[in-house]
Amino acid sequence: MATVYMGVDIGGTSTTAGLFDEHRRLLAKTTFSTLGNDAQYFGDPESFMDLLTLELTALTGHSRMQDIVAGVGIGVPGMVDPDRGFVGEATNLGWKDVALAKGMRMRMHVPVRIDHDVRTFAWGEVMAGAAKGYKNAICLTIGTGVAAGILIDGKLVRGAHHCAGEIGHDSIAGLATACPCGKTGCLETVVSASGIVRLAMERGLTPRTASRPLTAYDVYRYGAEGDPTAIGIFHYVAQLLAGKLETAIALLDPEIIVIGGGVSEAGELLFTPLTEILFRQFPWLEGKLRVVKNALGDEAALIGALYHVYP
Ligand SMILES: [Zn+2]
Repeated sequence: MATVYMGVDIGGTSTTAGLFDEHRRLLAKTTFSTLGNDAQYFGDPESFMDLLTLELTALTGHSRMQDIVAGVGIGVPGMVDPDRGFVGEATNLGWKDVALAKGMRMRMHVPVRIDHDVRTFAWGEVMAGAAKGYKNAICLTIGTGVAAGILIDGKLVRGAHHCAGEIGHDSIAGLATACPCGKTGCLETVVSASGIVRLAMERGLTPRTASRPLTAYDVYRYGAEGDPTAIGIFHYVAQLLAGKLETAIALLDPEIIVIGGGVSEAGELLFTPLTEILFRQFPWLEGKLRVVKNALGDEAALIGALYHVYP
């Protein structure tokens, strides 16, 4: 009888898969390179699906997945139609129009459900993390880019084209930095790990270890030690993010804003200026609207993926 569930978090660099028992306890986990060595699977979803099937089979220790696995949930970094199980586009993977759920179902003979990675992250936090028990939430990830999963009246919002929450490429007036998407001044040219590194280099910060390039973590460490330039960068990041969140708050009236992803590890350096700016704009929300770091760490999307199939 099928009694275990699997969650998969496909990232641009690495993919993590977890095996959960019927009480949602994580039994085993594996991480592997999404695109293989030398990105050999870029633009080749069939080979990736073969690889994922091998990894999932190894994780269960069972050759006949259908005998023990009740369902597989997958979070995908791209445009996803969860009803059709279809990935419209995933630029980091070189995918276009991929029938991912069907492809995995045919390989494993178990039910498969997929959704966008940030909605999967949000669903994890809503079901088992910082937003558990809330009905109106905005769950953001800030890492390579920035995006949001939105919960309204207890329902995860997907939008007419499954693109709700894609605020990373919403532009900011006066900002002229070129974005890889082709536009200029997108939010994530500042509010992202690479944005923080770019600002730090422009403002003269150097790597903490001379043998490798400057990282966002270096900038965080400088800030934590009181470096005014680094503190100023996080303040600027908070200011631009707050500008977009103010509009989101006015439109959606959330009870909680949850922030995860690598940049959220900056903690107070980011959250203190962010909450100060937001509550200056919405003083009546102080004590009502919570702005918190995500609770499930980097496993939020893995756990969210589990809940795509957990009954
Ligand atoms: Zn952009």
